[in-house]
Amino acid sequence: MDHILYLECMVCGKQYDAEDVEYVCPDHGIDGVLDVIYEYDRIAASFPRQHLAADFDHNMWRYRPLLPIEAHAAVPRLHVGWTPMWRVSNAGDPYGLHDLWVKDDGRNPTGSLKDRASAMAIAKAREAGAAVVTTASTGNAAAALAGLAAAEGMPVVIFVPRSAPEAKIAQLLAYGARVFLVDGSYDDAFSLCVEASKRFGWYNRNTGYNPYMSEGKKTAAFEIAEQLNWEVPDAVIVSVGDGCIIGGLYKGFHDLNALGWIEKMPRLIGVQASGSNFLEDAWERGEDVLTKAPIAASSVADSIVAGLPADRLKAMRAVKFTEGGFVEVSDDEILAAIPAMARQTGVFAEPAAAAAYAGLVGAIAEDLLAPEDRVVILSTGTGLKDAPAAMRGVASVGIEGTVIEPTLEAVEKAMS
Ligand SMILES: *Cc1c(COP(=O)(O)O)cnc(C)c1O
Ligand SMILES: [Zn+2]
Repeated sequence: MDHILYLECMVCGKQYDAEDVEYVCPDHGIDGVLDVIYEYDRIAASFPRQHLAADFDHNMWRYRPLLPIEAHAAVPRLHVGWTPMWRVSNAGDPYGLHDLWVKDDGRNPTGSLKDRASAMAIAKAREAGAAVVTTASTGNAAAALAGLAAAEGMPVVIFVPRSAPEAKIAQLLAYGARVFLVDGSYDDAFSLCVEASKRFGWYNRNTGYNPYMSEGKKTAAFEIAEQLNWEVPDAVIVSVGDGCIIGGLYKGFHDLNALGWIEKMPRLIGVQASGSNFLEDAWERGEDVLTKAPIAASSVADSIVAGLPADRLKAMRAVKFTEGGFVEVSDDEILAAIPAMARQTGVFAEPAAAAAYAGLVGAIAEDLLAPEDRVVILSTGTGLKDAPAAMRGVASVGIEGTVIEPTLEAVEKAMS
């Protein structure tokens, strides 16, 4: 792949040929997350921005020259990416943000942004000649891998914490994955998956371990820029668990900036659940995320629960280099944000995705957002992923349906 210079360790800066390492820096093991470094001059010469205007293939692979795959590599057949983004109506705007946008990545084939990374994993697994792909996941990454692989007829082995929401487990089983319900945390499932993939030679998609996952997720940043006609927003707000999405957004905007396609980097604002706030806490205290001890993490927003965020180095870089920040939100705020976000934006989001909306309040309070800013909320997963949480969310703000007899009189009575 002559558009890639090398892979660089986020810990020691050592550079490796993409052919020589598969996942992490050999010197730093699981901490040694690798960053893919591109040769931008070469890419710019063969891929002017105008090419995209004439490309009607609207999915994540339209940015192929900026992705870590061969020009003619086969990619999974399910449609991933180019999710809709629209300006939120100001009617009933509770926050005084006048230029607020939402991008609905719940509209991916398995219902979350994770499809972008899992699609990349399958392309890379094929390149590596692997027969089986595997991942540890809080649910969505696994559903994405299982769904995309099912359409390719590729076997999948999944490790999820036993506590993952039922709808997500049902999705995995329906897609035909071999599912291990690990009696432990996500972090336990993660380590077990790494060991098992070494033992059995499976291709490993683990977030923050496989260097190409943030490269898949960065396509969300490309789309935000292109959908806004290359006038990037002042800020993007997104929920954060392992930190791979926010790290990927940084990488995407960084690529575009390096190519001269955009004029500035948006501030990246990460939202964490109070019960799983490793990164927010490290940010506030100015701690080194490599030496900070793991926390005991829990939240109703299962997709952003991570005691030791696997992609913490990329997440910290994203926030630091864009002059963004981290904010935290309580589980009650997350649950209440489900109906609030649905009403204001039209997006029905799972708890982890609604957390980004809930984070607007704190981001404004901390001066990370101003009323005139153009702000994009990246909604990462559909509300249908976790119906019980949605029911709790609507109940928490005192909304319920009215049971009536099947007569018009009953409707009239109820309406009066
Ligand atoms: C995975 C996920 C996140 C967080 O992404 P990280 O890369 O782990 O920070 C947020 N929302 C949803 C719906 C997710 O599935
Ligand atoms: Zn290293």
